[in-house]
Amino acid sequence: MARRKKIYEGKAKILYEGPEPGTIVQYFKDDATAFNAEKKDVIEGKGVLNNRLSEFFMSGLNQIGVPTHFIRRLNMREQLVRSCEIIPLEVIVRNYAAGSISKRLGIAEGTQLPRPIVEYCYKDDSLGDPLVTEEHIAAFGWASQQDMDDILSLALRVNDFLSGVMLAVGIRLIDFKIEIGRVYEGDYQRLIVADEISPDSCRLWDIETGQKLDKDVFRRDLGNLADAYSEVARRLGVMPKSAVSKPTLIN
Ligand code: UDP
Repeated sequence: MARRKKIYEGKAKILYEGPEPGTIVQYFKDDATAFNAEKKDVIEGKGVLNNRLSEFFMSGLNQIGVPTHFIRRLNMREQLVRSCEIIPLEVIVRNYAAGSISKRLGIAEGTQLPRPIVEYCYKDDSLGDPLVTEEHIAAFGWASQQDMDDILSLALRVNDFLSGVMLAVGIRLIDFKIEIGRVYEGDYQRLIVADEISPDSCRLWDIETGQKLDKDVFRRDLGNLADAYSEVARRLGVMPKSAVSKPTLIN
């Protein structure tokens, strides 16, 4: 079998050239990193869970007419996605205060915000993904005004979809990050949701108990990360718990 070409290796995923032009194979690793990769570990099963969860969210978005890069799952750890030009921004939507906004503005974690707040960070690990304003984005040409209108609309639609899906299974969507890609179709270009949507890039709290079911479990040493992600998958009916637990010895 021909060796396939690696296009890019990031902290949690590897991208390979896809089988047809315009496609990419996205491989989900078990690696977990936080604080700009200062904290690292390998969490067995995380890649399998995130492959399934990202598929679940992205295909749901496709079904309600929010375009995403997702084409189909290939195997336990890989999915076929559309290749696109990633806009160098992390688009963050917040419903409740947590993490950096709590520190920056002194708002207690868990406080409901008056309305969803959308923030943009410039994607550059060497700078620690700094928060930027639309002024910076326009001045440096990272995205046009039309792009920004489309990005805001996509971000809010993703927020409504994810908030509803999570609420239905007793989970509060505190905040999340998405990345946006540009695709060309003939003379036209359009923006789609790309990268991944998983508990690595969302904050998810149990509505009843406030228990964290996202990457903060790893960032803040609150327990086993794979167990938290399995719980999200189980509630969504994405993957039965037995499919992610280790094989047991039958006597
Ligand atoms: N986030 C992410 N990747 C990043 C930064 C943030 O996926 O590089 C997600 C994070 O998981 C959370 C949301 O974006 O769901 C807001 O993160 P925040 O700005 O509070 O940063 P943090 O406290 O994680 O440093």
